[in-house]
Amino acid sequence: MTSAPSLVDSFGRTMRDLRISITDRCNFRCLYCLPETEEAANFYRDRFVPAKAKEINYSWKPKSQFLTYEEIERVVQVGAECGISKIRLTGGEPLLRRNVDRLVAKLVAIPQIEDLALTTNGFLFAQNAEALRSAGLKRISFSLDSLDAGNFERITGRDGLKLVLDAIKQARELGFSPIKINAVVMRGLNDHEIVALANFAQEQEVIMRFIEFMPLDSSRAWQKDHVVSKKEILERLLERFDLEDIPPAHASETARRWRFRNGSGEIGIIAPVSEPFCGNCDRLRLTSDGKIRTCLFSLHEHDLKPILRGEVSEPDLQATLRGIVSKKEERHHIGETDFVQPDRTMSFIGG
Ligand code: SAM
Ligand code: SF4
Repeated sequence: MTSAPSLVDSFGRTMRDLRISITDRCNFRCLYCLPETEEAANFYRDRFVPAKAKEINYSWKPKSQFLTYEEIERVVQVGAECGISKIRLTGGEPLLRRNVDRLVAKLVAIPQIEDLALTTNGFLFAQNAEALRSAGLKRISFSLDSLDAGNFERITGRDGLKLVLDAIKQARELGFSPIKINAVVMRGLNDHEIVALANFAQEQEVIMRFIEFMPLDSSRAWQKDHVVSKKEILERLLERFDLEDIPPAHASETARRWRFRNGSGEIGIIAPVSEPFCGNCDRLRLTSDGKIRTCLFSLHEHDLKPILRGEVSEPDLQATLRGIVSKKEERHHIGETDFVQPDRTMSFIGG
């Protein structure tokens, strides 16, 4: 039950999902997100010029600019009063922030929040897993783009496959459910692993989500040719698996889903590029430094931090959120001539 008017945009869409980036920092350097060097970025540009490789410099926000857990809790409380019921904690790498279990415990205690999840690269999961579970976190998503140690390192910039596989195992043992695996599919990089990743989902009884590569990489090297479309991913899967359609539970679901007819596990494909789902979008994003983004591709942000740090009443905060939501963009423009990539890229927004 909510006690304040819902967050409805000018296209009649009601916001229910808030994705919160709790840090912009990351310990991985995924090629599609935050590549470490120009050489790495050039791996998927056409002009691969190792001699010119140089480090890409990132400017992290000073930690003092991060919202505190108490400030994040307040935004969620206000959102929850206005109909937000789903929260995803993300980053950067959220587990780089200390005591995330403390934040989880605060958010679990908000009665309107029906669904709390965390997305992680898994590298620091082992040392956080039990505390997160005890704090009440049930749902977790891991990023895993390759099952081949060398390819994993090429994609993420880190030798971490074993740690991530161990993390998935540990999550199952601790009773996290559902466990989702996200794989961004990039042509020439990991598209040859689509079937192996689907097999992994079936064997491990986890939910596999293949994601189309979006133009949100910090090196701005995205090209349409690098995207492996939903249609192509599905064709490759259907050559090997007998899949049955799972009807969407909600219109706002981002993934089209299938189950294996002969076993457990689930496959989903998220196709923001080839089949945009903006018409049913119910998502808002809060960055680690307190900006609300009404779309992944927003060119404008709305700064909540000064408001949160001033003396503002709950009704005023609710009204501020409603005003922000009324300006939500109708759709993204990927692939169109007027597309402009936002200044902030995926790891700085929160996927
Ligand atoms: N560091 C955590 C992780 O990797 O799971 C959480 C943050 S990451 C930005 C969240 C999700 O965004 C990941 O599953 C990642 O695969 C996805 N992602 C990052 N860059 C992307 C891009 N350019 N296109 C599509 N998905 C992307
Ligand atoms: Fe990779 Fe996630 Fe870090 Fe981006 S934020 S570089 S997807 S681990």
